[in-house]
Amino acid sequence: MMTTYTPPPRDPKAPPVRINLLSDTQTRPTPGMREAIARAEVGDEQIGDDPTVNLLCERVADLLGKQAAVFMPSGTMCNVAATLVHCRPGDEILAHETAHIIAREGGAHAALGGFQITPLSGPDGQFSPDTLRGAIHPRSRYQPPQTVVSVEQTANIGGGTIWTKAALDEVAQIARQNGMATHMDGARLLNACVATGISARDMAAGWDSAWIDFSKGLGAPVGGVIAGSHDFIDEVWRWKQRLGGSMRQAGVCAAACVYALDHHVDRLADDHANARALARGLSQIQGIEVQQPETNLVFFRPEGAGVGGDDMIKALRQRGVLLAMMDGRIRACTHLDVSAGMIEETVGLVREIVRGA
Ligand SMILES: *Cc1c(COP(=O)(O)O)cnc(C)c1O
Repeated sequence: MMTTYTPPPRDPKAPPVRINLLSDTQTRPTPGMREAIARAEVGDEQIGDDPTVNLLCERVADLLGKQAAVFMPSGTMCNVAATLVHCRPGDEILAHETAHIIAREGGAHAALGGFQITPLSGPDGQFSPDTLRGAIHPRSRYQPPQTVVSVEQTANIGGGTIWTKAALDEVAQIARQNGMATHMDGARLLNACVATGISARDMAAGWDSAWIDFSKGLGAPVGGVIAGSHDFIDEVWRWKQRLGGSMRQAGVCAAACVYALDHHVDRLADDHANARALARGLSQIQGIEVQQPETNLVFFRPEGAGVGGDDMIKALRQRGVLLAMMDGRIRACTHLDVSAGMIEETVGLVREIVRGA
């Protein structure tokens, strides 16, 4: 499967964006978060002296049930540092064909690590335990050492779908039985936790490394935190330094993340309700094909209603609504800055565009 991303059209004459469904990365820090940033106690993060970063790392290690954690500038750097620790050049990583590590990290795992990633197929961004079993080959000098199995919780391009706890456990068990490490790209792990009521600690149990993104639905401006064993995190620190990801008074960023843990986790349920409302509204428009959302991502195709995807995006942009195509479908993300009223308005605008087509 080709995974493609078409950035939204940049039209200087278009009206201002009133409803931003492009991504949950589009959230702006709230007044409360900005206050927390302003009050942040800071120090030199690179030498381990920033109290707010240290607090954040302790909180996330505890949340994910791991020994230690480290603050990273981005989720991408969490994934990259993790594979750099788990693998040696020539090693093979197993991941779903739509995985962020394959399609959206600029080839980092090949360029920096010399790793190959074997794409596994399966519906909704997830591969089955049997597909994983089928991809495992015997150890021999002919074949690359298979060292990591990686999953995305939630599966972004799969539609924000949730890996069940049972599937996660089975996949992790297969990996372990075959001597592989397990890595969880938890960019939206907390969405899965809020949607299912399963704790992040339980979701991440059995996974050697796991991280959460703060710049997605949690609404912070910058950062991800990756967690694992003490030894793993020591090695991640070395790569963070090598990659230029060590920071200084990063407490100003970490304060926003701590604030997000305190104030923006439970409210992810609102985003999920808004996503369901959007899907319900869109599916009532004749010809629009909508994937039922499990979390905060809604993928749909308007072609059946007589409007091409790109035309729909342009027409919505003319009406102040921003979204984009992902892998041939339109993706709408709900988040902190999207209200129920905006969802209702968006459905009305799509209906108007379809009627005019
Ligand atoms: C956004 C995202 C990332 C990367 O996170 P950044 O903080 O944007 O670098 C990794 N994996 C998934 C599934 C994502 O959605």
